[in-house]
Amino acid sequence: MAAFELVRPSTVEEALAHVKAEEGAGVVVLAGGTDLLLDLDSGRSTPKKVVSLRRLPWRSLAWEGAGLRVGSTLPLRTLELDPGVSARFPALGEAIRAVGGPSLRRQATLGGNVGRAAPASDLLPVLLALDAEVELVGEGGARSVPIDGFLRASRRTAIAPGELIRSVLFPEPRPSAYLWQRVRPANDISQVAVAAAYSPSRGAWHVALGGVPPRPSLVPASAQALVTERPAPESIEHAARALAAWPGLVSDRRATEEYRRELVGVLLRRAVLRASEATRGAP
Ligand SMILES: Cc1cc2nc3c(=O)[nH]c(=O)nc-3n(C[C@H](O)[C@H](O)[C@H](O)COP(=O)(O)OP(=O)(O)OC[C@H]3O[C@@H](n4cnc5c(N)ncnc54)[C@H](O)[C@@H]3O)c2cc1C
Repeated sequence: MAAFELVRPSTVEEALAHVKAEEGAGVVVLAGGTDLLLDLDSGRSTPKKVVSLRRLPWRSLAWEGAGLRVGSTLPLRTLELDPGVSARFPALGEAIRAVGGPSLRRQATLGGNVGRAAPASDLLPVLLALDAEVELVGEGGARSVPIDGFLRASRRTAIAPGELIRSVLFPEPRPSAYLWQRVRPANDISQVAVAAAYSPSRGAWHVALGGVPPRPSLVPASAQALVTERPAPESIEHAARALAAWPGLVSDRRATEEYRRELVGVLLRRAVLRASEATRGAP
């Protein structure tokens, strides 16, 4: 591992001064470190300075009306163990439990997963289906970016130089489900994954796909086919066919295109049935 300076600011102002735009690629930020430490160790990342966010007051979880705001450095395990989170955002609980084992989730943070923007992230399809908003903060102030606009490409996001992710907002509870497929469930990443959520305020479904490069994506044609809160079997079939026809389902070293097209229909049917069953007891 190449030498670098480690700084551990305890105020947001101090942290922002360290990551300010003009320092560019020489600075990286560290949250839980589950991704970043591997990059440093392998030499994929060779920064001059590493800015730890662990002392910042961002390990927070707050209800804002019906919405949930999660501080970017809150460990996934804390989110997982909160009974209100899984009750109101079932797909989020399911996606968190898909990330490694409990010891990894004690370190890994939501902000780190979002900042990494990996194509096979388990959390990002769910954030898309739940219409999450990413709050960014820089020396010029704060701004909020819908997750769909935040994700640009594989490992590329809308974070501008000098900005940090402060929090993620989930605006409303949604009956929802997240299902994935892996070769080795315990220690692999998803070949394909589907998140489905029903928005009571919009009267509409959201369907998102994960595990396929370059980034997790919403699939509106599939969501629109679902039509009602508890879709009829023929609507679900239509939505499954629309999802399987999505052009982004390509072959790579983890799965063939044909396998993925077959599988997404199966995952979608199960996810919609599970989520629509939950609408009976929705909060
Ligand atoms: C063994 C293993 C298994 C894994 N399994 C899965 C899995 O099944 N599913 C899955 O989705 N992921 C998996 N991961 C990936 C990883 O655990 C997650 O991406 C994790 O959530 C990253 O969070 P972190 O706090 O550790 O981020 P870090 O490693 O600290 O940071 C990750 C990236 O985000 C940036 N970053 C972090 N915080 C911020 C911030 N507040 N503002 C701006 N940029 C920021 C960092 O600079 C870095 O580039 C696995 C990782 C390992 C090592």
